[in-house]
Parts: sequence; C-alpha cells; structure tokens
Amino acid sequence: MNDVRDVIIIGGGPAGFTAALYTARANLEPLVIEGFNWGGQLMITSDVENYPGYADGVLGPTMMADFRRQAERFGAEFLTDDVTRVDFTERPFRIYVGDDEHRADAVIVATGASARQLGLEAERTLQGRGVSYCATCDGAFFRDKVVVVVGGGDSAMEEATFLTRFASKVVIVHRRDEFRASPIMVDRARTNEKVELVVNAVVEDVLGDDVGHVTGVRLRDTVTGETSEIEADGLFVAVGHDPNTALFLDWLDHDEQGYLVTEPGSTRTNIPGVFAAGDVQDHTYRQAVTAAGSGTMAALDAQRFLEAEGDRERTAATSA
Ligand code: NAP
Repeated sequence: MNDVRDVIIIGGGPAGFTAALYTARANLEPLVIEGFNWGGQLMITSDVENYPGYADGVLGPTMMADFRRQAERFGAEFLTDDVTRVDFTERPFRIYVGDDEHRADAVIVATGASARQLGLEAERTLQGRGVSYCATCDGAFFRDKVVVVVGGGDSAMEEATFLTRFASKVVIVHRRDEFRASPIMVDRARTNEKVELVVNAVVEDVLGDDVGHVTGVRLRDTVTGETSEIEADGLFVAVGHDPNTALFLDWLDHDEQGYLVTEPGSTRTNIPGVFAAGDVQDHTYRQAVTAAGSGTMAALDAQRFLEAEGDRERTAATSA
C-alpha cells in the first residue's frame, strides 16, 4: 500500500498531462497513472498544425512527449501502467494497478476516447500516412487530393463536407443504404458537387505504395459481394468514438454512450473529489487544445476542492 496522495491523475493524454503540469506547479505532487499506451489519440497522428504555440507544426508523439516532460519538470510522477480497478466509496479514493493499491484525496479521470477502427492490418500500418481519424486535424494535408470517408453517421457527413474545402473529390463509403446521420447532414453532403456516395459497400483493404502512403482502397459490395478499387490519397475513418470509461461506469454518472457527465462549466463529477477532463467527458470538440484546457480546469477544481477540505478539517480539529 502506498501513502495517500493529494491527487492521482488517470490517463496520459493532453488532458492528463496538463492536469499534471498544473497540479505539480501547485505543489500537489501528482501521480499520473498514464497507461501503457500513454499519449492517446495523438500517438496515431502525424503532423499537428493546429496546436497554438507550435508555429511550425509538430508530430503528435513529439508533442505528447513534450507535454509529459513539462509536467515532469515540476515534479509530476508517472506510472506507465494501466489502472485495473477503482474504489470511490470514500476518501481517500483507491485506485488499483493489479494488486497495487494507490490512494488519493482527489482523482482526475482523463482516460480519453478512442476512435473506432475498421480493424484492417493496412489501416494500422498506414495511420498518419494517409489514414486519419480526424478531418479537422488532417484535412488540410489533402489539398486537391481524392479522399475516402467511411461511415454513415453525422461525423462522416460532417467530415466529408469539411474535406471538400481541400480535396478535389470526397467519396463517402457506407455499409448500408440508410444513413444513421440526420437527413439534413446527408443532404448537405449529397448536394455538394465534390461528394460521391457509395452505399452498400465496406472497405476491405487499404492500399499503399512502396514508401508507405495510401494510394487507394478496395471495396466490397455488401449485396453482390463484388470487389472494386478506388484510387485515393487518404482514408478518413469516421465510424464513431468510444470513451475509455469501462472502469468508472459503476461509480460516475455517464450518458448512454458512456461519456462521463460533469457539472456544466466545471469538471466536477457526481462524486465530490473526483473530476473528469478531456475527451472522456467531451464528445463535441475532441481537440488536443480543448482537452488541455479541460485538464487545466480539473487541476484548478481539484486544488480548490483540497483547499476547501483542508479548511474544513482544520476547523473541525480546532473546534473539537
Ligand atoms: P455514429 O452515429 O455511431 O455513426 C457511426 C457510423 O459508422 C454508422 O453509420 C455505422 O454504420 C458506421 N460504422 C460503425 N462501425 C463500422 C465499421 N466497422 N465499418 C463500417 N461502418 C461502420 O457515430 P458518429 O457519426 O461519430 O456520431 C456520434 C454522435 O455524435 C451521434 O449522436 C451524432 O449525432 C453526433 N454528432 C453530431 C454532429 C452534428 O450534429 N454536427 C456531428 C458529429 C457527430 P451503421 O449505421 O450501419 O451502424
């Protein structure tokens, strides 16, 4: 068993590392249980050009290493392992990594969300080399290029329409002939002259050249079983996201998709002393910079919570 910490941060992406930076600079000596795959979605991104301060752009993994190093400089400690269980019954809260128990008076949950993948081998090897999960992040790299967007939900329609600002052609591939997306979003995409819709089709493979860049996709018609190839420079997978909240669902209020619910304008969850930051509680903005901002809010909320609790305990001790 370890000593009781002021703060434990669960998750090592933009939100978790920023919360670590702020709590470390507030002398709260945070422990960040960052996960084996720390860095989150930025680790499958190549160039990041929209994070303020990196005027010349930066690679996603480099940016995450920078975030981590900055928090470490002020004394944040890191445990590169996955949390396996939490117990938020009472303070100090208990967080388990296998059999090891860690305790803290405040917890910041920043475990993020994961973009759903198609599950193809080539999709994985071509990530950041033409395969992307974020049009806002990577659209500008596809000026005058042909791109394929997979999915039939609002995200796919929105991303496809956004991509027409850059791409010469956007092919939306959807596995059914009905769309989960709202009709207005489908119409917006359908009436855009750069957009072509291919329904009843799945991406069976992503094709790449010798230097490892996307050159096209192979499609399979779900009705006839026939295969065909489309030449394309990029593949945007927009088949939804899943919040990484399995560990917390029994404890923390969440919406029907599993995203944690925080009090509006704060990072407070339904358990006083437990805060949630970043994509784990945000399915709208999902940007590194908004996650970092949310990590800052969680750090300040945790700091104020601990100060108020300290005052309360000191008052109780003096009046006893
Ligand atoms: P979503 O609504 O869950 O849609 C996912 C789409 O991907 C579905 O069409 C699904 O097909 C398809 N899909 C899932 N797995 C697939 C696979 N392995 N291969 C091929 N296709 C696959 O997700 P979303 O579009 O990200 O939207 C999430 C939520 O955010 C929704 O509530 C949405 O309304 C909201 N949103 C709103 C806006 C807006 O209003 N501006 C923008 C973006 C998102 P099936 O339909 O066949 O299952």
